[in-house]
Amino acid sequence: MSARVLVVDDVEANVRLLHAKLTAEYFDVLTASRGEEAIHVARRDKPDIVLLDVMMPGVDGFEVCRRLKAERETRDIPVILVTALDRREHRLKGLEAGAEDFLTKPIDDVQLMARVRNLVRLKVVTDELRSREAMGARLGVIDIERRAQILSSRAAAPGVILIVDDNERQAARMKTMLAVHAVRRFDEPAANDNAPPDMMIVSLYSKGFDGFRVIAKMRSVEATRHLPILAVVDPDDRERAVRALEFGAHDIIHRPVDEEELAARARALIKRKRSMDALRAVIDQSIELAVTDQLTGLFNRRFLMGQLTPLVRRAALGGSPISLMTLDIDHFKKINDALGHDAGDDVLREFSARLASNVRPIDFACRMGGEEFCIVMPGITGDSACIAAERIRRQVAGAPFIVGGGEMLDVTVSIGVAASEGRDETPDSLIKRADEALYEAKRSGRNRVIGRSGVRVA
Ligand code: GH3
Ligand code: MG
Ligand code: MG
Repeated sequence: MSARVLVVDDVEANVRLLHAKLTAEYFDVLTASRGEEAIHVARRDKPDIVLLDVMMPGVDGFEVCRRLKAERETRDIPVILVTALDRREHRLKGLEAGAEDFLTKPIDDVQLMARVRNLVRLKVVTDELRSREAMGARLGVIDIERRAQILSSRAAAPGVILIVDDNERQAARMKTMLAVHAVRRFDEPAANDNAPPDMMIVSLYSKGFDGFRVIAKMRSVEATRHLPILAVVDPDDRERAVRALEFGAHDIIHRPVDEEELAARARALIKRKRSMDALRAVIDQSIELAVTDQLTGLFNRRFLMGQLTPLVRRAALGGSPISLMTLDIDHFKKINDALGHDAGDDVLREFSARLASNVRPIDFACRMGGEEFCIVMPGITGDSACIAAERIRRQVAGAPFIVGGGEMLDVTVSIGVAASEGRDETPDSLIKRADEALYEAKRSGRNRVIGRSGVRVA
């Protein structure tokens, strides 16, 4: 995967060396030799990653990092700080400034590439989500403030951390170090609330299992694909560190684990995870919005048609059957006329709630518009659908509806049922037959279920 890398160093020879190494791996390289210049280039050219020398005259690397992380425009660009000495204070100060990672001079090529690729991979995902969010905002289906709201509601909550390490002492030490969070060892039972973890710490020296396999497994399962993983590695074990990154660890920490460094890395990983989760939640919500009827919370017509097409086609090809009912509230206009539009809306909401609680999880209850509804029932024949429809009819007529002013209303519904048949069935032909049955139900007195002739009765 190629990407644009900004290399910042006040020593010309260092810049040239990194330039050569990265170009050889087909990265696009930008350069800067001073702090201010680096910030300027980052703002202007939006690199995918910054390799930032710490010691520079004037604005040093820590300060550049802080400023990049403080600005909306540049906040998401990962920063790797390059230090001359592997000093603890430097690492802590860098993490504090928001840096994602560190490399020590002289730079090891393999580590460099593993780190860069790893961070670029993460950035690609972030960029994709951000651009969907921006698109949603432009279309008016995403409220741009929403993500900040979700984030601030969770910011103070402690993280849930899972430690996968069978070295009792090391696991216990880490647990103490991370005491502000809810930490659990993999072999301890989950807390009652069973919150999914915000991050995972995996030792690559466990005796009872293969840490790499754990990382690979986490990455291959949908539910944990985005879970940040911090791998624990010996400082001189370059090979394992690189492999861990390649398998999808987000970050590395060295043994023996330093308390402040662990706390800082955990904080950074959890923060990033929450930010990504909020972004996904906002996008998911906008998709939901697009298929949901706002008044009732049921699916809308657009969603129904999208679902129906493949189901009907499969049934037509000899797959499992599909049934459909259309429902229309009886004399709904009278409710509006007598009690007002708001009372009518209350009836629509209560009616929808009764529908939703009387279908199976795999059925789709939709509002087609006005007081007309539709329920799609995959895998069901017409006669079973008629039984389900009759149950719904009774649920509606059986207990009065209470509307805004406290008035009790008797409401009834007419329902038409049709089941898929034959090779030429289409969503439209199926809906049309159900509508004909519904019309017949209305004509013959309302508050009843009619199965379209042709519905096979078992
Ligand atoms: P029928 O038994 O033959 O179905 O009679 P009906 O009065 O239910 O049917 P009709 O189609 O004549 O009237 C439907 C009414 O539903 C007319 C319209 O004003 C009202 N309506 C449509 N959408 C909404 C809505 O979102 N809220 C409210 N309160 N009323 C709505
Ligand atoms: Mg009606
Ligand atoms: Mg109507």
